[in-house]
Amino acid sequence: MAADKKIPYKIYLEEQEIPKQWYNVRADMKHKPAPLLNPGTLQPMTFEELSGVFCEELVRQELNDTDAYIDIPEEIQQFYKMYRPAPLVRAYCLEEKLQTPAKIYYKFEGNNTSGSHKLNSAIAQAYYAKKQGLKGVTTETGAGQWGTALSMACSYFDLDCKVYMVKVSYEQKPFRREVMRTYGADVTPSPSETTAVGRKILQEHPGTTGSLGCAISEAVEAATTREGYRYVLGSVLNQVLLHQSIIGLETKAALDKYGIVPDMIIGCAGGGSNLGGLIAPFMGEVLRGEKNYRFIAVEPASCPSFTRGKFLYDFCDTGMVCPLAKMYTLGSNFIPSASHAGGLRYHGMSSTLSQLYADGYMEARSVEQTSVFAAAEQFARVEGILPAPESSHAIRVAIDEAMKCKETGEEKTIVFGLTGTGYFDMVAYEKFHNGEMNDYIPTDEDLQQGFDRIPRFAGNE
Ligand SMILES: *Cc1c(COP(=O)(O)O)cnc(C)c1O
Repeated sequence: MAADKKIPYKIYLEEQEIPKQWYNVRADMKHKPAPLLNPGTLQPMTFEELSGVFCEELVRQELNDTDAYIDIPEEIQQFYKMYRPAPLVRAYCLEEKLQTPAKIYYKFEGNNTSGSHKLNSAIAQAYYAKKQGLKGVTTETGAGQWGTALSMACSYFDLDCKVYMVKVSYEQKPFRREVMRTYGADVTPSPSETTAVGRKILQEHPGTTGSLGCAISEAVEAATTREGYRYVLGSVLNQVLLHQSIIGLETKAALDKYGIVPDMIIGCAGGGSNLGGLIAPFMGEVLRGEKNYRFIAVEPASCPSFTRGKFLYDFCDTGMVCPLAKMYTLGSNFIPSASHAGGLRYHGMSSTLSQLYADGYMEARSVEQTSVFAAAEQFARVEGILPAPESSHAIRVAIDEAMKCKETGEEKTIVFGLTGTGYFDMVAYEKFHNGEMNDYIPTDEDLQQGFDRIPRFAGNE
């Protein structure tokens, strides 16, 4: 214990220790993630096809399976300096409270107005859009974190930002909406009358409160029918994992500084971007045969892509307009029950993480909502941060692992990603405190309905 005390509460990095390049884990993977397919031809999406929807440089990053390191442009490094490096915190108070011999560290990404790690990729995507000379970008947002991050990034680079926000969130989360508008974004509740797909959905389902899949379809239409606009996405894609590698690179630099070697690295998994970014450089060491770590992805039991999904090509959106991605999926029409961890309610998973999981490099665990909020509260009371419900999935498993160490007496080193703060999620906390939160877990029959809609073709059965 005494020797340990030399490790400060927060490990910061010096100027010269700050990463200047992102790390692309695909370069070190023997089995590369499967390419995106054109749903019409079932052929890999080409650069030309993808650049009609996405910014050119981002398409290059999406398709780049070979370069391990990619320079972070100077302008993005400059922006990162406003809120990075994020601290790596030794959870001394939590360890003390749990009376565990485990050593717990967390990387805190909630240190900016968007309240989550999503700004790391939003600023990169806005930068490349600006560099291409575009007028603006469109996107969707569910819970609102991604829309907020992108609004901040666009205002910094003076880009127009159109956000399609799932109607139910638009109405229930007016504060998130106002933060976006503060940064100048144009926020439209989805489905809307502003797109053909929105009008069609409204005609077929009058009074619908919308879904993420529908908002994606509207945002893609809004981008592809406007001169000078492209669509951007906040998770799942390879390019987003690449930008989020800044989380893992900083974490590794901080740990290396004190000679700390983690036994396990834990993160919550929605579309997989924060987890993919956190583990990237460590996974690289494993893939190159240099080290060995346990990696644990944590997902809600209500949306169990890794633990109960199928590893198949599927649509990325409910509207079935986006390319097919090979990933662990619950089916593009799967609508999870009203779990409060909005950012973890996606039916699919990053194809990079999916391949690593299929190849046995990663474990996955699903946890129930009430146990997640119990962990969130336990953490908030001793560590001085009110965690986001999404992040609290990782806290749950970190605490579980620390308690195992207490039983066995093992002094394991646990690192987990604390992706954000939960100040806009107080309705969920309220439900938890009032005992009104339930733990709905989909039955096999429920999941089968989603699996039935996965497109089947030769090699995808
Ligand atoms: C969006 C979000 C997540 C999940 O997204 P990933 O792409 O899986 O990282 C987790 N935590 C917070 C706070 C989020 O906003």
